[in-house]
Amino acid sequence: MSIQIYNTLSKRKEEFKPLEPGKVKMYVCGPTVYNLIHIGNARPMIVFDTVRRYMEYKGYEVNYVSNFTDVDDKIIKKANEEGVEPSVISERYIAECKKDMEGMNIKPATKNPKATEEIGGMLDMIQTLIDKGHAYPAADGTVYFRTRSFKDYGKLSHKNLDDLQGGNRSLLVSGEDQKEDPLDFVLWKPKKEGEPYWDSCWCQGRPGWHIECSVMSKRYLGEEIDIHAGGEDLIFPHHENEIAQSEAANDKPFARYWMHNAFLNIDNRKMSKSLGNFRTVREISEQYDLQVLRFFMLNAHYRSPLNFSADLMESSKNALERITEAAGRLKDRKEKASAVELTEAEKKLLAEAEGYVKKFEEAMEDDFNTADALAAVFELVKFANTNVTEESSAAFAEGILEILVKLCDVLGLVAVKKE
Ligand code: AMP
Ligand code: ZN
Repeated sequence: MSIQIYNTLSKRKEEFKPLEPGKVKMYVCGPTVYNLIHIGNARPMIVFDTVRRYMEYKGYEVNYVSNFTDVDDKIIKKANEEGVEPSVISERYIAECKKDMEGMNIKPATKNPKATEEIGGMLDMIQTLIDKGHAYPAADGTVYFRTRSFKDYGKLSHKNLDDLQGGNRSLLVSGEDQKEDPLDFVLWKPKKEGEPYWDSCWCQGRPGWHIECSVMSKRYLGEEIDIHAGGEDLIFPHHENEIAQSEAANDKPFARYWMHNAFLNIDNRKMSKSLGNFRTVREISEQYDLQVLRFFMLNAHYRSPLNFSADLMESSKNALERITEAAGRLKDRKEKASAVELTEAEKKLLAEAEGYVKKFEEAMEDDFNTADALAAVFELVKFANTNVTEESSAAFAEGILEILVKLCDVLGLVAVKKE
């Protein structure tokens, strides 16, 4: 079996082949830290943590990098409202975000770089882009990427440059008159009153948003990486611009597989801070164990939109309990069994149970179909409930329990809580 990944770049499933045997280099765009994260932000965290866990289960060593965007208009606005430095806001919400991630059983990243700590690398990459003719400073010191200089622009979002120019007025931002072309985007911008800034040879200012991910990905993973991921709202312009910056600067393909999760919706609209229709992970944690939230997310395919509802959360809670109760019974049987060794019949049953592992793996290898993988887990639960009885040996109960715990762990679900 091989892992198939739907690649946004080719719009089809492709066999996963790592750049380096046995290793996965993975970059996931992280949150802008000015508030508690909402459960829409939690979707990519849970989904791509599960991708990582499956890769590790298959024996890959995963280098997992996910940034915190800690310089941004919204952070600055909040800092000004509270009369504190922007770093006070960003550090506060990075700490809160890490608490939420721990609750959702998200493995710590290999590295969580912060934009403000990577400014030097950004200045270098911008200079390289200028030297190569892919970027230019305007009179006020703003540096723009010369979009038309990058021939492959649009290859990820499957957009045509001319359609973009005619159709997407939202691309036109302030300072438009200084641009050579309306499609050009900002790499560096001059400071405004009350904003944090850094020195550069173009002006005192701060980076545009897109450049940070190109720079951090290169620094911590190298010029070419295996997987780059995030929510589907990032395909355009963020990821399209990252590709343009990285490939123009490095003269190498950037990421081989681009993965994007669909939205978490509420009443069939995207959950977002700007629409005000969000629930924070913290709010959910007051009502449920965050394992329930994790189950809820994984019970849908990551590329399908998912609608949040109280009913679905309740059914997720009940379903998760079926797993933990079965695991509890298996543990109990193991401890109380009088027979120790496997019988011949139990050996056969244990081999049969391996069939569910195969089903689970097939589902995961089909573009991480966690909904089908969970269905395999429930088949195993049913099998355990039927076949592990008071007469079973300790070894049999233990063997089934080990399989159940192992599969749940790949999904980040804890079948048996530590005492
Ligand atoms: P942001 O802080 O808005 O930059 O978002 C951080 C991550 O959360 C990005 O990968 C977004 O694509 C993702 N995201 C934000 N809202 C949603 C949502 N409603 N559903 C799924 N992913 C989302
Ligand atoms: Zn990014």
